[in-house]
Amino acid sequence: MEVPFLDLKIQYQSIKEEIDAAIEQVISECSFAGGPFVKDFENHFSEFCETKHTVGVGSGTEAIWMALLSLDIGPGDEIITVPNTFIATAEAISFCGATPVFVDVDEKTYNMNVFQVEQAITEKTKGIIPVHLFGQMVDMEPLMAIAKKYNLFVIEDACQAHGAEYHGKKAGSIGDIGCFSFYPGKNLGAYGDAGALVTRNDEIAERVRILRDHGQTKKYTHKIIGWNGRMDGIQGAILNVKLRYINRWNEARRHIAKLYDTQLKNTEALVLPKENEYNRHVYHIYAIRVRYRDEMIKTLKDSGIQTGIHYPLPIHLQPAYKNMAKMNLSFPIAEKCANEFISLPMFPEMSQEQVEYVVSQINRII
Ligand SMILES: *Cc1c(COP(=O)(O)O)cnc(C)c1O
Repeated sequence: MEVPFLDLKIQYQSIKEEIDAAIEQVISECSFAGGPFVKDFENHFSEFCETKHTVGVGSGTEAIWMALLSLDIGPGDEIITVPNTFIATAEAISFCGATPVFVDVDEKTYNMNVFQVEQAITEKTKGIIPVHLFGQMVDMEPLMAIAKKYNLFVIEDACQAHGAEYHGKKAGSIGDIGCFSFYPGKNLGAYGDAGALVTRNDEIAERVRILRDHGQTKKYTHKIIGWNGRMDGIQGAILNVKLRYINRWNEARRHIAKLYDTQLKNTEALVLPKENEYNRHVYHIYAIRVRYRDEMIKTLKDSGIQTGIHYPLPIHLQPAYKNMAKMNLSFPIAEKCANEFISLPMFPEMSQEQVEYVVSQINRII
């Protein structure tokens, strides 16, 4: 049996007619850069996230970057985040001239250890970017209390967490701004690059709308120096179709996770992910931890099973951040996870037989 890590073609086949019709409509109306299809998606996505505003942009990376810019973050500022995330979180901080400051993660959820945040705050700290890694939200209540106490912005990196919940609140709706990626492989994926910021704050929404459109308040009147960060019309139309299915797809992911949870045995040799009781995890990634990772990956590959690693090298050890090397930073949990993680196949259309095959192969190898 062949089990891919994810299968975007099978999903396209299941909604082909609606997608093709949506693309055709954009082309016939030639509404390509921003425009009504993007606006329509923005309205629906705000409803979905239970927040007030959505601003569609070019990617998740651009969403985080523009979130920081809209809050006037720049050189001399420090932003607290985690080292075990996709590079984009730190990259966006660095790209606006600020400095990422890391705290370690919690060994159960792999998310920011919010109880280390207070120690990392200096007089330069301006904000915190919690990352809802793999689709499970960070412990936001204590984090928001710290942010309030020190008057810091909170930008949720919800790029892996469309539809995730924390105490019934939607990802992206708790902090000042939530950032989403619609990279094709994400839980809600476009057919190309796209991203969005969500916020309940009118002023922030207005600033980002101007920022993403060359600082224009009206055509050819540029109030500030902005950027071209518009979402494509075609992507807006596609996302509008796919948004109708996201709850169903997230439920399917949760069902597959449940099958993995109950059929794999959590032991010292095989650590399964844990969902906090107050969270709704949407399993963008189902990551297990094993000690003999290379052997496991190779044996699974020989059995036709594709896996991934998210992520093999924490950001403070990346060549791009070699300036951090002399600081001798150490984040033992993030480093341990980077050495032990394997992401198992996970996509909504995965069949029960495929899950059972993966399980049987892992149990055999263990
Ligand atoms: C995917 C991702 C991003 C970046 O999104 P792009 O749309 O690829 O730019 C940022 N942060 C996290 C945690 C992600 O998973």
